[in-house]
Amino acid sequence: MIKFALLCASGHEFESWFQNGAAFDMQAAGGLIRCPVCQTARVTKAIMAPAIASSGREKPSPLLSPPEPSANVALLDAGDKELRSMIEGIRKRILEQTDDVGMHFPEEARKIHHGLVPERPIHGQASFEEARALIEEGVGILPIPLLPSEQN
Ligand SMILES: [Zn+2]
Repeated sequence: MIKFALLCASGHEFESWFQNGAAFDMQAAGGLIRCPVCQTARVTKAIMAPAIASSGREKPSPLLSPPEPSANVALLDAGDKELRSMIEGIRKRILEQTDDVGMHFPEEARKIHHGLVPERPIHGQASFEEARALIEEGVGILPIPLLPSEQN
């Protein structure tokens, strides 16, 4: 059995167990995997930090904000202060130490990936389709964790 972190087309993150990677592919292709939040069958494996590390490159990984900030809220226990402050710390560091390229994220990430511009850490927004296209092109991207308090 293997546990995958999954991401639906609306940006909801959840986890599920599968027999193996092929079982995930088959179930996903058959529309059998549903997002527990919005029930969509458009589900893909979420991109996690270890996947970027395994690319074998030393490049800084571009960072990606999920398209719908409210999407991840359901999974975070609002009472877990320790987790909240940890995520807040990570977010603060990411946002302070990376350039905000906003909606230009996909093209900037691509330029960095292909060495067209000097490497630098960036963050910004991309749609689910854009994110998936980047992943398929081998560009390492990483979702930034979000907190309920930021919806205000
Ligand atoms: Zn969903």
